[in-house]
Amino acid sequence: MAKQRTLAILKPDCVRKGLIGEVIRRIQEAGFTIKAMKMTRLTKQTAGGFYAVHREKPFFDELTTFMSSGPCVPVVLEKENAIEDFRKLIGATNPANAEEGTIRRDFADSMGENIVHGSDSEENGRIEAAYFFAESELVANES
Ligand code: ATP
Ligand code: MG
Repeated sequence: MAKQRTLAILKPDCVRKGLIGEVIRRIQEAGFTIKAMKMTRLTKQTAGGFYAVHREKPFFDELTTFMSSGPCVPVVLEKENAIEDFRKLIGATNPANAEEGTIRRDFADSMGENIVHGSDSEENGRIEAAYFFAESELVANES
């Protein structure tokens, strides 16, 4: 199977809890290669752009307030079947429903503050990676 990319974000709660290292360790242990990574801080507006698909949802204001509440760490990851495998590694959106051993189950406090984001399709992964990284930062990493 061909390699695939996904865009992950270690969310502000992950950074605040001092879990960057532990979450990156689990991601690498699961076989993902890091292709790009940085620390940045979204504004409420740029968080809204990233999650534009949820603009009409009742939790949109809570989501964008949280995502702009502190620094986050976007990461481009590569692996065979990366989209599906990464979502398995992080677990369900609501940590209460996430399988044992998943990152959200182990570290997330609530549906709103759930430690990590993962792209839901290859196309969205490309769009989301471009939201955070210049083409040069991605291409420079091609193996
Ligand atoms: P993400 O896109 O962050 O990886 P996801 O794909 O598991 O999460 P989505 O349905 O895309 O879930 O929702 C995006 C984010 O919005 C969730 O991670 C969560 O933080 C927040 N969210 C979703 N549903 C709710 C809800 N009912 N109440 C509060 N927050 C929610
Ligand atoms: Mg999603």
